Amino acid sequence: AADRRLLDVSGIEVVYGGAILAVADVSLTVGQGEIVALLGANGAGKSTVLKAISGLAAADRATVRQGHVRFDGQDILGTAANRLTKRGIVHVLEGRRVFSHLTVEENLLSGAFLHKPARGELVRQLDDIYAWFPRLKDKRRTLAGLTSGGEQQMLAIGRALLTQPRLVLLDEPSMGLAPTIVQEIFRIIVRLNREKGVAFLLAEQNAALSLAHASRAYFLESGRVALEGKAEDLAQRDDLHHIYLGSG
Ligand code: ATP
Repeated sequence: AADRRLLDVSGIEVVYGGAILAVADVSLTVGQGEIVALLGANGAGKSTVLKAISGLAAADRATVRQGHVRFDGQDILGTAANRLTKRGIVHVLEGRRVFSHLTVEENLLSGAFLHKPARGELVRQLDDIYAWFPRLKDKRRTLAGLTSGGEQQMLAIGRALLTQPRLVLLDEPSMGLAPTIVQEIFRIIVRLNREKGVAFLLAEQNAALSLAHASRAYFLESGRVALEGKAEDLAQRDDLHHIYLGSG
């Protein structure tokens, strides 16, 4: 599905506060309905690349000084995050930033506010999310802050899905979670991709896990693409384990 480009990032350079060079030169593409992994150690620049794409870089006083970002053939660099969400790009931040004082269902509803669907449509969309994440249905009336880390990650993804995205930028979904719940989340991501055609750009430190679920991958090192290729080919290379600490 990589033949039609959905996202095209070319030669971006990203600087924090006008001084700290976090991303020096990154180019990558995501095809329509593709899962692409963005790998690398802590601090390699993965989160910064996602923020440069989603428009959230500005909120962290980061500036994209070079390069371009195109979504569906159109330049999107400098477009505000909420406008990009309307156009089909949603960013699920690292660390599952759910509203802990709201219930699971209230959190999900917050994902719908940009589109403001009619009541019946909203109910249908919520039911759809609950079908993907049955655990969220069980906990719909529970305060999000009282749910498990895995459930919060599911909630963060479910809320993002309510924006009706074509591309989800997903930052470290496995972080701090037990392997079984991580497997469950990755299985759902793959099904969302196959059955709904949602594309994912997945930033992860866990290389082995990501390569097992993505079609292609990019390894970042000090803000540059050090290596890229098909996930199945990269997964064969045992030297990568040593170089890029794919701990999973
Ligand atoms: P992690 O897994 O820790 O998120 P990462 O690969 O996503 O790692 P980034 O978070 O993008 O890496 O960080 C890339 C570089 O930018 C690092 O050197 C980091 O210290 C720096 N950086 C990140 N956020 C900021 C910020 N808000 N202000 C200044 N420097 C930052």
